[in-house]
Amino acid sequence: MYRYNVATAASPGKLEEPDAGEGGLLDPDDWDAFRALAHEILDRSLDLQERIREEPAWRPVPPELEPRYRESAPMDGVGEEAVWEDVRELVLPYRSGNPHPRFWGWVGGTGSPLGMLAELIAAGLNNSAPFDDAASRVERQVIDWMKEVMGFPARASGVLTSGGSVANLVGMAVGRDAQAGADVPAEGLAALDGRILVYTSTEAHASVHKAAQVLGLGRRGVRLVPVDDKDRIRIELLRERIAADREAGHRPAVVVGNAGTVNTGAVDDLDVLADLVAEEDLWLHVDGAFGALARLSPEYRSLVEGIERADSVAFDFHKWMCTPYAAGCVLVRDAEAHRRTFDAPATYLEPPPRGTGSWTDSPNRRGPQLSRAFTALKIWMVLRAYGFRRHGELVTDNIRQARYLARLVDEHPRMERLAPVALNVVTFRYTGEPATASPDPSFLDALNLELLMRLQERGVAVPSSTRVRDAFALRCAIVNHRSRDEDFDLLVEATAAFGDELLAEGFTP
Ligand SMILES: *Cc1c(COP(=O)(O)O)cnc(C)c1O
Repeated sequence: MYRYNVATAASPGKLEEPDAGEGGLLDPDDWDAFRALAHEILDRSLDLQERIREEPAWRPVPPELEPRYRESAPMDGVGEEAVWEDVRELVLPYRSGNPHPRFWGWVGGTGSPLGMLAELIAAGLNNSAPFDDAASRVERQVIDWMKEVMGFPARASGVLTSGGSVANLVGMAVGRDAQAGADVPAEGLAALDGRILVYTSTEAHASVHKAAQVLGLGRRGVRLVPVDDKDRIRIELLRERIAADREAGHRPAVVVGNAGTVNTGAVDDLDVLADLVAEEDLWLHVDGAFGALARLSPEYRSLVEGIERADSVAFDFHKWMCTPYAAGCVLVRDAEAHRRTFDAPATYLEPPPRGTGSWTDSPNRRGPQLSRAFTALKIWMVLRAYGFRRHGELVTDNIRQARYLARLVDEHPRMERLAPVALNVVTFRYTGEPATASPDPSFLDALNLELLMRLQERGVAVPSSTRVRDAFALRCAIVNHRSRDEDFDLLVEATAAFGDELLAEGFTP
């Protein structure tokens, strides 16, 4: 039995030795055997990171394995050793490919070995936050560091989230409530006359639309302003739209600026947006899911100039900082406005003056989540170990690599680039010899789609796709600390070779 000696309880931390071997229902029967298994799991997990370059960038799940993922609920367990066998057979080989040096799809971060270890430690502590514990202090520290880095004042507030989507939701929610002119947290949208409006460019990420849906503003409450030839919001059209909406009796509230659009990595003119928002007395939220981290690069930080003037900014750690998933953040300049949106009465959460629950600045009051993972630990450990300077080098490298890839494409006779490269996103396609090009524009769309699937299925690389000015584009968003220049050489070589191969096969859509 585990006994607490009440006589010595006055000196905290001193417990009597528990009897070894008597654990809970989910503890191992044999700790020595479990420990050996744990070391094996750790070694294989590290192997995966160390040797990832020798692996295919992606490996599809073989159809014959599909039934193994669709079994009925296991009422009796197979044991720890057997489940590790299952992991080795069913899980480890069929990775999305994020840790691979040639994974550039969507905006997929790489993760890191130290981040992986942090997850192990955090899972063992299993603190559910928000308590008076180290986790609360570590999270506060991480948020304070990010305020410094993003040029936000120390009095600003912030919260860690699962990612950019929830960070956008939080920033837009606070903006909505601060601008509503009524007590929306108490009364809801019913208290308002006129429609609350959000403004952003046609290039905004879907999470902005989703946030508007969830916040009761609706997708129609998001005014989509056209972009210029560099995919940046056209400020004069934004200004006109705001005036017209005011005229019609609506309530313009939030402008969402983009620091790194998902399609092409474009950055809105944030300084001009901040000026306009000040003149119009609106809320500027910046979706900087990956682009905000350009602040870390001394060479390229000017690309996101003005971000420090936002009312709120959302960004991810799991993208351009390569923290293991999931980790995002939102900073809010007006801490009081932030708290007003998320504070909800709960007697069972009232902090006593001392004890476990006495942490008064709970993240629960700054976002939708109560129980949450110790997300801050992996960020804190990796940042302390490697520093912001090294993360800045990572950003600088990736931007330079994007320019390198753009040049390779530009110089290739059978490929073309589809958008300017502002940050770390390159969009391009295979065209074949211009002289023999098909007159049907949808031919190249279909050809490049097939080409993309071959690049992935053959394990060469994982770009993703999008449409740029109505053309199907191969798209690389580079947030990868393992990529080298030769990886981009290989991508261009393979793209050309597979494109040539498709034409030689007589590809038809
Ligand atoms: C990825 C991304 C998001 C959403 O972030 P998640 O971390 O995936 O939730 C929002 N905006 C942009 C520009 C993104 O690239």
